[in-house]
Amino acid sequence: MKILLACDLDNTLIHSFRHVQPGEPCIEWLNGNEQSYVTRKTFEILSDGLPEDILVVPITSRSIAQYQRIIWPQDQAPRYALTSGGGILLEQGEENNAWKEQSRAINESFGAAECFAKAAELLSLMPGLKSCRMIDSIYLFAHFYSEESASKALSLLKQAESDAWKDRISALLVRRKLYLFSPAADKGAALERLKAKFDADLVLAAGDCSPDLSMLKQADLALIPDSQMADSLIPASTKICPESIPFSDFILQTALSCLDDLRK
Ligand SMILES: [Mg+2]
Repeated sequence: MKILLACDLDNTLIHSFRHVQPGEPCIEWLNGNEQSYVTRKTFEILSDGLPEDILVVPITSRSIAQYQRIIWPQDQAPRYALTSGGGILLEQGEENNAWKEQSRAINESFGAAECFAKAAELLSLMPGLKSCRMIDSIYLFAHFYSEESASKALSLLKQAESDAWKDRISALLVRRKLYLFSPAADKGAALERLKAKFDADLVLAAGDCSPDLSMLKQADLALIPDSQMADSLIPASTKICPESIPFSDFILQTALSCLDDLRK
């Protein structure tokens, strides 16, 4: 295999109703409601199927169940996908037990379970908490009723236990959602593990926000939607999507042109 393309999903390969353009195909439904879309060009490329020399592996913070809601164009689901922040490997839809066991061992070596138990206890006392749960036994996710309560919860958590889980858990706030990622739910670590599994001539990674950064740093070529994360990446191995083209189209077209170059 020539190219390994590690690709975040939300706001990278797919997007929600917030960014949908008229006529774009829906690829995810929840309780009968449309959830996510792809551009027409991306739909077309995925429907035709990418060349065998490009292995696309979605790497997402979505849980297994959230990932499995996606209906891929023409049922061309990627053979491999990493869910739950990279802690779970699905191979043709089935969980890879060796991968999961390794993720569990990584978390255990960092004492993540203890940190999560403490964090969950603290979160349960915080006002405005809607729900708090472990995602596939890999990382902790908390959902709040307002952005304000989520952000307050994060500062309280940091104050309360910063030393206890410093270097063990990384917290990320996205509007009303608080993600507490463990070492096994680190996309960069997951891409390292993928690189060891597949012998690729070129590794591309694409992502749009901070949890993707560790993965983007592991790639030979990082693809980002705008200049926001550019300062944290090496310019010579980073490509920023031009404004004139949707990010997902840019990612797939870049992978195809890299393959052409490799074949020359
Ligand atoms: Mg994303």
